[in-house]
Amino acid sequence: MNCPGLQARVQDKNFNRGFSPINNNNMKHVIKRSWAEPYKIKMVELLKMTSPQHRKKALQQAGFNTFLLRSEDVYIDLLTDSGTSAMSDRQWAGMMLGDEAYAGSRNFYHLEKVVQDVYGYKYLVPTHQGRGAENILSKILIKPGDIIPGNMYFTTTRLHQELAGGKFEDIIIDEAHDPENEHPFKGNVDLAKLEKLIKKYGANRIPYISIATSVNMAGGQPISIKNLKELRALTKKHGIRVIHDMTRVAENAHFIQQREKGYQNKSIKTIVKEICSLTDGATMSAKKDALVNIGGFLAVNDWDVFEEARNMVVVYEGLHTYGGLAGRDMEAMAIGIMESVDDDHMHARVGQVIYLGEKMIDYGVPIVRPIGGHGIFVDAKKFLPHIPQYEFPAQTLAAEVYLDSGVRTMERGVVSAGRKANGENYYPKLELVRFTIPRRVYTQAHMDVIAESTARVYERRNKIRGLKMVYEPKYLRFFQARFEPLK
Ligand SMILES: *Cc1c(COP(=O)(O)O)cnc(C)c1O
Repeated sequence: MNCPGLQARVQDKNFNRGFSPINNNNMKHVIKRSWAEPYKIKMVELLKMTSPQHRKKALQQAGFNTFLLRSEDVYIDLLTDSGTSAMSDRQWAGMMLGDEAYAGSRNFYHLEKVVQDVYGYKYLVPTHQGRGAENILSKILIKPGDIIPGNMYFTTTRLHQELAGGKFEDIIIDEAHDPENEHPFKGNVDLAKLEKLIKKYGANRIPYISIATSVNMAGGQPISIKNLKELRALTKKHGIRVIHDMTRVAENAHFIQQREKGYQNKSIKTIVKEICSLTDGATMSAKKDALVNIGGFLAVNDWDVFEEARNMVVVYEGLHTYGGLAGRDMEAMAIGIMESVDDDHMHARVGQVIYLGEKMIDYGVPIVRPIGGHGIFVDAKKFLPHIPQYEFPAQTLAAEVYLDSGVRTMERGVVSAGRKANGENYYPKLELVRFTIPRRVYTQAHMDVIAESTARVYERRNKIRGLKMVYEPKYLRFFQARFEPLK
């Protein structure tokens, strides 16, 4: 589908992008261009407004775990940005163009063309979502005993690497593990760490380097083109592939445009393509950047890998021209990908996240810096210093924010980290509450509500008591664990 108007805006070189915290200091005298949304609202979804009594009861029934709340009892839902975006009128119109043929759907060919045009990868295998692509890729490239270095782990990515017999090794720079470090590219690879691994294991035990753009677990932190180029040179020397977890590649491109020398006047679209050109293939969860509620793909440049993936997708997902998706889903994805690399869209998307983060900072709320691309991560250890980690400060804070305003967030701390093989809790350095922002869903006034609510909880932080865990499931306990307030 053609997107008239997008091109013209992308080429507007005078477009002031001075909203980022990096540029703020020297631009104080300039009236900042707002990050205002490049769309208007055609349809709304009504929300249930709840009373404090209602929320208290709902939270008790949910065992003080925000994962166990019913979505109906939530006012603003910041649990995740995955599959929660609002589709555009063009995407909805595309749904009506779904060609639901078992084989050779027209929408597949459209999606294939968009992936080739926008990302530059040669071959496409659609999958039901990101982990479907990770499964297939891991099975093809990893042999038992292999090492897969990556710029911080992601839950499903690492699990598929392990299930294929591989072992993940973290090669992200140390700064990524420090919530206060203001490094502009906390997603960068530490090349010395990688060289050490190559020396230790030998290049033939490293099937590929797993590189995420906008590193999720580090708080949505970007990797720079410079670092990617250096990585490319090093891996080329050793004949090692680079596989790109491109779930949030356009958000990463935005930070490169804002922060990396020489990229200020390049469009998101150009930068996205350059990032992809420095890698050999990619797995994609289209539920994030690509603005759809379901979908993903594997894309590669290597014919042999493609041939095997095309064969394997039939076993795990569906025929290679639908991969577990309806024709209409592939159409919505094709259009969503084009919208995701529009400069105005990304300016507003990340602008909204930064607006919320700056508001939190103004209220004195301790958050992870610099502000990332897809959410705000509140430092619960600093917020509630009187609550020891074994009384679950982040879980407590998430519960308190819900009680205050019906805003649903997620714990990323000791509960999520789980237990070691010997039964002891992992006590992670970072004890965070994640406020993840869905794309094109909430307004600036909603951001105000979120920041004000967090600030209100911050004001009464000294009166807040911790929690005790009263039910703990065996696996991934954060989803279903239950808690009670300490007296
Ligand atoms: C969500 C996500 C995945 C997995 O994708 P699903 O669509 O949820 O299966 C992989 N990598 C990253 C970085 C993600 O955020």
